[in-house]
Amino acid sequence: KLHNELQEIRGNIRVFCRVRPPLPREGGDLSNISIYGFDDDQGTQTLDIIRDSKAHTFTFDRIFDRQDTNSDVFDEIGQLVQSSLDGYNVCIFAYGQTGSGKTFTMLHPEDGIIPSTLSHIFMWIEKLKELGWNYEVTSQFVEIYNETINDLLKDLDDDTEELGEYQKHEIRHDSETQTTRITNVTVCELTNREMVSDILKRASKMRSTAPTAANERSSRSHSIFIIQLYGCNEFTGEKSYGTLNLVDLAGSERINSLQSTGTRLRETQSINKSLSCLGDVIHALSAPDANKRHIPFRNSKLTYLLQYSLMGQSKTLMFVNVSPCSHSINETLNSLRFASKVN
Ligand code: ADP
Ligand code: MG
Repeated sequence: KLHNELQEIRGNIRVFCRVRPPLPREGGDLSNISIYGFDDDQGTQTLDIIRDSKAHTFTFDRIFDRQDTNSDVFDEIGQLVQSSLDGYNVCIFAYGQTGSGKTFTMLHPEDGIIPSTLSHIFMWIEKLKELGWNYEVTSQFVEIYNETINDLLKDLDDDTEELGEYQKHEIRHDSETQTTRITNVTVCELTNREMVSDILKRASKMRSTAPTAANERSSRSHSIFIIQLYGCNEFTGEKSYGTLNLVDLAGSERINSLQSTGTRLRETQSINKSLSCLGDVIHALSAPDANKRHIPFRNSKLTYLLQYSLMGQSKTLMFVNVSPCSHSINETLNSLRFASKVN
């Protein structure tokens, strides 16, 4: 309860940290990370990490330790997800270097945030029926690669592309209704939780047709799972419209652009630019005078797409995923610094 009140005071942007467990192949190469319990006065948690015998301290709204499971994570975000049924726009990001556990957190096929979110949403929708609420649930799944939007749910049998009618995906904002649409993108109506596994399979099939190897490509692009919830109450006539954006960000590792050329250089530049732009936008939104400030949404496709979901009636959660290994410690410190700066 106290925890919730404090979150109200701190606004609608929260940052959670997650340290993944070491993998068998990583041996015992561990960095020295200590995670402390809740500070009840602040409603926050603190982590110490030691590099070259110097301790670095970071504070987050919540820290998940190596033994915490995906279901422990979902227990903490269920309420946030549920608020999308009340018409809130929710964004959940997973930020971190490649291999830090972003995809495990967001997309694990059984208990990742995306499948768990859909299970819970359908469970809550059942309950809300008794109060007269009926919901329509749709999903879209896109990636942003080199500042271009690709539809991950495109029908692979569709031959319009061979006919030369290549479908471009543009972002269209409607300022009156404060809603966003992506042109020519596949929108799937969801009627039950089981459909999500089909959708995720379709997306990975789509990705595997891309010229770059699927796992490498996915670490160099942002993937955004969009769930839209249209509710209507048959007793009162009330309506609600909420959106959930579940985002597995591109790997945050700083690739030296001096060492890359051509496609690789372009990729690197667009990842660096869009991640730093996301940090700037979230930071600007968390300022007390955010409504008077200029928020640089237009500086990247990702923030432009999410513009209406990040402002107004919205809630944002960023996970910073980190590896427990000592060979990753420099990237871990970079990620922790990025995440503590956004809030
Ligand atoms: P990223 O998407 O950030 O590149 P992944 O989610 O693919 O990282 O995780 C890298 C590896 O670590 C994968 O083999 C994944 O299964 C494993 N992993 C990540 N997080 C956890 C966790 N919390 N528990 C167990 N294994 C994990
Ligand atoms: Mg990944």
